[in-house]
Amino acid sequence: MKRLIFLGPPGAGKGTQALILSDLYQIPHISTGDILRAAVKAETTLGIKARNYMDAGELVPDDLILDLIKERLSQTDTQKGWILDGFPRNVSQAAFLEKLLQELQLAADYVLNLEVPDEILVERLLARNRKDDNEITIRRRLEVYHQDTVPVISFYSDRGRLKAVNGNNSLEGVTTALKAIIDQT
Ligand code: AMP
Repeated sequence: MKRLIFLGPPGAGKGTQALILSDLYQIPHISTGDILRAAVKAETTLGIKARNYMDAGELVPDDLILDLIKERLSQTDTQKGWILDGFPRNVSQAAFLEKLLQELQLAADYVLNLEVPDEILVERLLARNRKDDNEITIRRRLEVYHQDTVPVISFYSDRGRLKAVNGNNSLEGVTTALKAIIDQT
């Protein structure tokens, strides 16, 4: 059983790697971005509230995300473990998650940070063709990443919990590096 938190900038390949590992270790892949995109598509209350923030490359407000993650981590399939992808995105979400996991008497096994330089990210994101992947939104998402999400890296490294992985490598190379860390236990 594995409980993994994936950190990394937009376009680092978190989603792709998380899917591969979710299949390999047979644990659910929990992507807040995927949950939000599904909500937008289904035009739920959450989706309607979240859409404009997502289109602008801004973070959706915490009050929309925190209940969602609490509810998701309480579902029975998470007893097998999980991979969190896209959460936590800021320090207050990270603190919330610590508290939630304590309440559930759980701890994450690894916090994995996929490192990729900004100039490579812009190239990769432009090639991806998602609705929120136009150049202005991409630049804003990277700004938001540096401002709000980079402090999450320090949050975990200060607690001695962070493992860095070079994400600027082939897809298979990154998977191999991630597996080598995860299989250590
Ligand atoms: P992603 O698929 O992880 O790149 O997320 C796409 C968009 O969904 C982001 O640009 C945010 O607008 C929103 N989003 C996803 N996860 C979060 C989160 N944990 N907190 C706030 N906003 C989020």
